Amino acid sequence: MLKNLLNLMFPKTCKGCDALLLYNEVIICAECRHKLPLTQHHLIKNNSTFKKFYGIIPTEFCSAMLYFHKDGIVQNLIHNLKYKNCQEIGTLLGDWYSHEIKHVEELKDVTDIIPVPLHKKRFKERGYNQITTFCQSLAENLQVKFNEELLHRNSYSKTQTKKNKTERNNISNAIFEISHCYTEEKKHFLLVDDVITSGATLEACAKTLLKIPNSKISIITIAYSDS
Ligand SMILES: [Zn+2]
Repeated sequence: MLKNLLNLMFPKTCKGCDALLLYNEVIICAECRHKLPLTQHHLIKNNSTFKKFYGIIPTEFCSAMLYFHKDGIVQNLIHNLKYKNCQEIGTLLGDWYSHEIKHVEELKDVTDIIPVPLHKKRFKERGYNQITTFCQSLAENLQVKFNEELLHRNSYSKTQTKKNKTERNNISNAIFEISHCYTEEKKHFLLVDDVITSGATLEACAKTLLKIPNSKISIITIAYSDS
């Protein structure tokens, strides 16, 4: 009753399409949920995300949850997550995706979930890392450690999504660093980002993490973009 009243006074809108939410809908409306463009990458070993790193870095498993289309639901969700402080979108998608990937054999020995870090300056501007809640949900559901201390970004760079392959090669691995040395324990890092476009940022992160002896890498993103 109170919830209905509050909803009347402060109507909530869908983070995917801006339509008014019904009282039993949370964050995104039923229609957007139904229309979410799931990639099903986790069912295809040689999927488009995996192919981005093929021959560049060794990976155990790569997948993106959703297809990113310009002006589509996923773009709105990412925008709200990234710039409007709607961090509960990350939780919702993380819970959802955990159920999809929990039986993936290659992920069974993951030890740490590593968010692609923001530079301190950007973190301060935004107040949060947009991928944190998605990572936390994965960590909780898959029962592995959420490790946000290990990897750091040490230079402030503009978005790398528009860079071509030559420029991509120039992105120094040195923009990421490991905060401390690891023991000889075998590590399987699950590296997580919001959108994969060229893959250059994830590649730089992965190369840094792979410097740790006995480590291997898997990669998951919320969305996959071709452009
Ligand atoms: Zn909607």
